Amino acid sequence: MDDPRGEDNERSMKKSDGAEDDGEGKKERVLHTRVPAVLERELKRFAENLRVPVSNLVRTILEDALDVADAASESVEDRLKRAAGRLEAERERLKKKMHADPLAHVFAFQPITLAQRATCAKCGKDLEPGDHAHLGLSDEPPQRARAARIFVCDACVPKK
Ligand SMILES: [Zn+2]
Repeated sequence: MDDPRGEDNERSMKKSDGAEDDGEGKKERVLHTRVPAVLERELKRFAENLRVPVSNLVRTILEDALDVADAASESVEDRLKRAAGRLEAERERLKKKMHADPLAHVFAFQPITLAQRATCAKCGKDLEPGDHAHLGLSDEPPQRARAARIFVCDACVPKK
């Protein structure tokens, strides 16, 4: 008998690597960096604890580090090391950040017709050009918001 969990893990690891992406859609870069084994273990443990992929956790930590201090001279590895040192202390804060409502700062939704591909910020559904969707309007400065633009699909827009 196959172990469906094992299979699933393998698939999701491949996906999160991003290297096999079809080239369209995600324009994000894959960053490779060396991390000490202890740090890797700690990151994995923390990610499991939060039930999020390690890559998401690392990205959140890096974004967080950029938010906290604009230390341009610091390398990615130094930043990760420092962030990992704070993991225990900041566990709760990061936890909240990881699970933060992507629509928390949106004050209105404007119906729009998409001209480019987008992803629903709430359910993650892929949206195609020509699709009707809703643009979330936010006062939050773009560098603090999770994404510069927030789109949601018809199903996810709040209704009375
Ligand atoms: Zn949606």
